[in-house]
Amino acid sequence: MALTGLQIQKLLPKTNCKECGCSTCLAFAMKLAAKKAELKECPYVSEEAKAILGAAAEPPIRTVTIGQGTGALRLGGETVMYRHEKTFVNRTGLGVLLPDTLEPARLEEEVRRIREYKVDRVGETLRVDALGIDFRSGRVEEFLAALGRTAALWDRAIVARSDDPRALRAAAERLHGRRPLLASATAATAGELCETAAATDAALAVAAGDIDGLIDGVKTLEGRKFREIFLEPRSGSLAEGLQTATILRRAAVKAGVKAAGYPLFKAVGTGDAIDDAIEAALDIVKYGGLVLLPEFDPAVFMPLLTLRQNIFTDPQKPIQVEPRIYSIGEPDEDSPVFVTTNFSLTYFIVSSELENSGLSAWLAVVECEGMSVLTAWAAGKFGGARIGAFIKESGLPERIRSRRIIIPGYVARISGELEESLPLWQVLVGPQEAADIESFVHNVLGRP
Ligand code: SF4
Repeated sequence: MALTGLQIQKLLPKTNCKECGCSTCLAFAMKLAAKKAELKECPYVSEEAKAILGAAAEPPIRTVTIGQGTGALRLGGETVMYRHEKTFVNRTGLGVLLPDTLEPARLEEEVRRIREYKVDRVGETLRVDALGIDFRSGRVEEFLAALGRTAALWDRAIVARSDDPRALRAAAERLHGRRPLLASATAATAGELCETAAATDAALAVAAGDIDGLIDGVKTLEGRKFREIFLEPRSGSLAEGLQTATILRRAAVKAGVKAAGYPLFKAVGTGDAIDDAIEAALDIVKYGGLVLLPEFDPAVFMPLLTLRQNIFTDPQKPIQVEPRIYSIGEPDEDSPVFVTTNFSLTYFIVSSELENSGLSAWLAVVECEGMSVLTAWAAGKFGGARIGAFIKESGLPERIRSRRIIIPGYVARISGELEESLPLWQVLVGPQEAADIESFVHNVLGRP
């Protein structure tokens, strides 16, 4: 549980030496409580205080990483029940679970297809995070061969999926160095698999049909000082799954139950592609850690990745695009300059409406801390002087002749200030809504 500033201060040396940059230990404690400072900034903290404060600083859902390097996938780390309370931290991992019975050439083709898949949305490239191999063949050699083929082509997270501890032990050895997820141990196999996972630097999921079974499995692992754990509730219906995931999250976040505080793992498999997609979508919204679907269909993954992107944006920080001059079409020295803010949604709507109009233009995207046009103007970040300075610093005036600049209709009142800032320019007031850009282009700028 989070400690208050006063509780933290009691654990500090209380010498007020100021070496941490704060005037008193209490001020430093307050910053620590607000997560605006790190404990290491005080050189005099005792080992005992470090242990207490370190444990208190851990999120209620432990962060567990699988995969390595650029393909590493951080899961868990959550601190709240609802996104609007603060933010969700690590996105639900999305992957595909392939059977080890696939023909080698077919398996490799599928791995390549999933590897190459990507969606560019709101300035971000979205991809599949993980691949799992399901032990269906009943032959460990076949399982290992499929894992080996996958690992050779896939540098992101890998899951070895089986309830057979023999197969998981062999998989852990085969994938040593890749930090895989072994899924899953049961209460009966948790002890022996925990040793294998610890020795091979793997994470281990523990599966059970009810919450008590999960907690028992976790306690077995924690008792052996192993904490790279995922929870795999094997619930019957969609409603039961949602209920279990909610109880676990609530127990960890609200009641401080450590054994419930691990990311969830699920291999979806309802037998129906639409139901699988619905279940995965529910897991994204309600507390899924890593979710594997039984097949790869771009028509399913695109909406899931989009949904995930929406849920896991930080409501306190708008998504931003880089402030700079963008080219729409093939602008030249006679092309007009449109101005907007660097709030992603605004940028993508304005740029696509400009593209639809068929006009080649320059789009000046001004740094406004990701605010929309009216919000940025109200905050004093989208005024005439600021836009003028941005245009001058961009070097655009040296590249163009026409010097026509179009501002959003909602901020018509800044036109005088902008004219003062850019005296050689003609300032035009554009439409209030981006949807009217096309008619503005045709009616005001005179494009056919
Ligand atoms: Fe207190 Fe440590 Fe900061 Fe010194 S460095 S004022 S002891 S918190």
